Amino acid sequence: MANSMADRYLENNRQYASGEAVHRPAYPGKHPIQPSKRVAVVACMDARLDVEDLLGLQTGDAHIIRNAGGVVSDDAIRCLIISHHLLNTNEIILIHHTRCGMLAFTDDLLKAGLEGDPAAEKLLGQATKRAFKACGKCAATPSAFHAFRGAIEPLDAPRDAKNIERLQWDVRRGMSSILNHPWLPTSGPDAVTVRGFIYDVDNGKLEEVSYPGPMGSIG
Ligand SMILES: [Zn+2]
Repeated sequence: MANSMADRYLENNRQYASGEAVHRPAYPGKHPIQPSKRVAVVACMDARLDVEDLLGLQTGDAHIIRNAGGVVSDDAIRCLIISHHLLNTNEIILIHHTRCGMLAFTDDLLKAGLEGDPAAEKLLGQATKRAFKACGKCAATPSAFHAFRGAIEPLDAPRDAKNIERLQWDVRRGMSSILNHPWLPTSGPDAVTVRGFIYDVDNGKLEEVSYPGPMGSIG
């Protein structure tokens, strides 16, 4: 999947990491609805990620889909299918990042805390340094929070080999969800390409995640 536009964005990112962002805000009225660079980005909602700046995207260039973790959720798949089939994008970029909050809890822990389990409340309070307040009720949705696999760690912990591995697992899981989806073609004349990255919030740099590779295991 070499020679994609992502290589240009990697070059823009090197510029960004050295202190010069290339995004220029523009009034969008005269741009076509189709993203001009034919790119769709899935990225975490983290407040420290300026997606347009760190990739050097301009107004009208790309669809940017964001959620907690940059997870390829059902809704992200929905967006990507619409982005490709109706709005002509053909390149997908996934971005996870260091110090992600999704490394600091598990789905079961958060659900138990929200439902009122005192031990879960205490653990979540310790992990986030915020008094976690249970709601004391069950709920049918969301069906999953998609917290990252692996042993949880304190919120905003600096990067190390273990948490980078956990981030890589989830990027690959997202790539796999896209590459194996029957409505997102990855071969033939209408193919989309997919590349995954980890953004380091401390130095502003993107690092590519190899694919295929380990995706973690249950538990
Ligand atoms: Zn995050």
